[in-house]
Amino acid sequence: MLGEFNLIDEIKKRFPTPDGVTGIGDDCAILPQHSDRETLVSTDMLMEGVHFLMDDVSPYDLGWKSAAVNVSDIAGMGGRPEGCFLSFALPKTLNDNWLLQFIDGFKALCDRFACPLLGGDTTSSLDRLCISVTVLGSSVKQLPGQAWTPGSARRRSDARSGDLICVTGNLGDSAAGLKAVLDSAGNSSASNCPSSSAAAILRERHYRPIPQVEAGLVLSATPEVHAMMDISDGIGSDLRHILKASEVSAEVDVNSIPLSKELIQFCSEQSTDDCDPLTFALDGGEDYQLLFTATPAAVEALKAKGLRFYVIGRITGASSACQLTWLNTDRDFHGFTHF
Ligand code: ADP
Ligand code: MG
Repeated sequence: MLGEFNLIDEIKKRFPTPDGVTGIGDDCAILPQHSDRETLVSTDMLMEGVHFLMDDVSPYDLGWKSAAVNVSDIAGMGGRPEGCFLSFALPKTLNDNWLLQFIDGFKALCDRFACPLLGGDTTSSLDRLCISVTVLGSSVKQLPGQAWTPGSARRRSDARSGDLICVTGNLGDSAAGLKAVLDSAGNSSASNCPSSSAAAILRERHYRPIPQVEAGLVLSATPEVHAMMDISDGIGSDLRHILKASEVSAEVDVNSIPLSKELIQFCSEQSTDDCDPLTFALDGGEDYQLLFTATPAAVEALKAKGLRFYVIGRITGASSACQLTWLNTDRDFHGFTHF
């Protein structure tokens, strides 16, 4: 194994620090301050055995995803990613090739979103791999007394009665992709059923989520886009966070949920009846699309700008009950929870 300092050197070589910034190599990173901006900070952990199984994921995909889920939190506020920090506890059994592929995947995502790696921490672990990523972003400083300054961070707590509820893309692909991964990882009933092209595409969506940074920037630049967040646990759970934070109730029409043709195909190919597209879409997590509320006028303005998104429901009124009503179904959906 490379050893702690050689590994840090290898990482440093691959992540040049942008001009005006001090990155990997000192006690702290140094970033310039911008007087008209606010700093967004988010951190996420990925635990072997909880978030991923070593046998099921390639190191490159795991690196990509570790960065993506964090950058997605910046996108969820409508911010711009500015830099990230990678800390990991590494079991001694990991080989150098594995680590370097992980770094390659991490870097590919960082490069795509111009989010440089500026530091981190490296320790050993007795047993399992643990990855922690922190990401910094920026948004326009909120003007005093103004609710929705263009470019300012969008919170979960600003949904208003009469807002339409929207999502930026298909739901359920990642959860179905995870099922495809787990099925082909040893479940014998699945081995009779050869992996279809739909399953392969869904697996890719599970392992290589694309944070919706550009959409988030367009949304935060639009006045009267009110509440926003990224969808990590499924809207059955995530929309309830918005309702609770904003003290409003909502209705969602399940017939309006955007579903990919791959998800429909994958579900139709399954012999078991636990493969329903809506369950993947509303109870499954990790799609990393954006969920937002906006006035009908803002929705029209966004359509005119050519932003791709889908209206799935509306905020029905202020209410401390925070009721979520599903239209056109007698089922209820609660998303994914860890415990
Ligand atoms: P310290 O003893 O001050 O914590 P370290 O030896 O842990 O310093 O880290 C030295 C430098 O390498 C720091 O700039 C730190 O941010 C960076 N670094 C350590 N581990 C990583 C990592 N996994 N990814 C990126 N940078 C790292
Ligand atoms: Mg350290």
